[in-house]
Amino acid sequence: MKKIFAIALAAVMACGIFAGCGERKDNGGQESTPAGGSSASGSAVEAIKANGKLVMYTNAAFPPFEYLSDETSEAVGVDVDIAQAIADELGVKLVVENVDFDSIVPSIQAGKGDIGAAGMTVTDERKKSVDFSDTYATSIQYIIVPEETEVKSVEDLAGMAIGVQTGTTGDSLINGEVNGYEDDDGNAVQGVLQDTGAEEVQYKSALEATQDLLNGRINAVVIDKMPAEALVAKNDGLKCVELVYADGSKTEESYGICVAKDSDLLDVVNKVIKQLQDDGKIDEFMVNHSNS
Ligand code: GLN
Repeated sequence: MKKIFAIALAAVMACGIFAGCGERKDNGGQESTPAGGSSASGSAVEAIKANGKLVMYTNAAFPPFEYLSDETSEAVGVDVDIAQAIADELGVKLVVENVDFDSIVPSIQAGKGDIGAAGMTVTDERKKSVDFSDTYATSIQYIIVPEETEVKSVEDLAGMAIGVQTGTTGDSLINGEVNGYEDDDGNAVQGVLQDTGAEEVQYKSALEATQDLLNGRINAVVIDKMPAEALVAKNDGLKCVELVYADGSKTEESYGICVAKDSDLLDVVNKVIKQLQDDGKIDEFMVNHSNS
């Protein structure tokens, strides 16, 4: 499994770099909100304080970590609450930029945003472009299918059209299994869904993929556990199961917040995450946003 991820995540990063940004603002219609970048002394923290704002990049279609509030249409969720605590620690305003998932890492790398927080799995490939905070949640991949579909393992997705969110770890995994991948030594490895007629269909968000699942255009969606459960809870006729291989192996991932490489912001982010964890706040955020 490790090998699948190592190889397939190279594809994730390629998507991230080359995909169009399609940026949508969630900041009250302001034209642009450049991030702090770094001050003359090279301190991102000083620059953010001088600007009076912390710019968070996210993709608000991943409940409970980030989603658009029904009432206000603003991005809310566990990651937004964590980012607000970081902004409070810095004594600045939080500005949320709602963009495509695969443009978050390149945007943080380019200094457009100060932090990327999007239920983002820490991967070696992403670590080449950005630094990650200590992790604050764990996840595994899940499969969403219509209630009547019998799926016990990845292998049962043979012949199906499988929806994923572009640039995610689920995208990498399904791409590798449908198209094959290379192991660490560069040898071609047959994916478990290769030559079964299975096909991967990419979407901008798991929400859009789930709509197509409901419309019958695709047969399954692969996405992280908590968003899968949230999507199933909101849509009748669907169920979700853990993504496991026939041999019992499964995926395990941990979420972190990304910042530009070698930024002094990382210490602040880690300090806030630790404080929130010690106070039981992150669990509280999860509960609050899982009920909405
Ligand atoms: N955890 C997954 C990843 O990092 C999915 C994140 C997301 O879709 N927001 O790729």
